[in-house]
Amino acid sequence: MKVIYTRNFPPGNFHGINLFGFIFASRRWGVMLPHELRHELIHTMQQVEMGFVGFYVWYGVEWLVRWVQYRFDSERAYFAISLEREAYAHEREEGYPKRRRHYAFLHELRKPKKRVGGGKPSKQT
Ligand SMILES: [Zn+2]
Repeated sequence: MKVIYTRNFPPGNFHGINLFGFIFASRRWGVMLPHELRHELIHTMQQVEMGFVGFYVWYGVEWLVRWVQYRFDSERAYFAISLEREAYAHEREEGYPKRRRHYAFLHELRKPKKRVGGGKPSKQT
């Protein structure tokens, strides 16, 4: 997994973004930590099993549905996306990528709503 550090991309509160398996991280937030790298690795695994384009289509559609569901609260919509919920729920488990099952994010669709993590986690896509 290749991490490309940039000056200001991704913008805003996003620390990193995974585009087709390449991680772009803004230097403003420092070097990516192990759990952040694992978060992105989980997204790369999701992308591979969904044929990359399928990942972005699913991501966009689910964000839109959640955005409406949560009355246009974009941050809440982001954390509710099943792909993000899986990544945040398991980013601190070292062995997770090896034992992860295909399409594990689908299980997140069935779980009751909850905000992942304590406080305000750094955003990653
Ligand atoms: Zn993410």
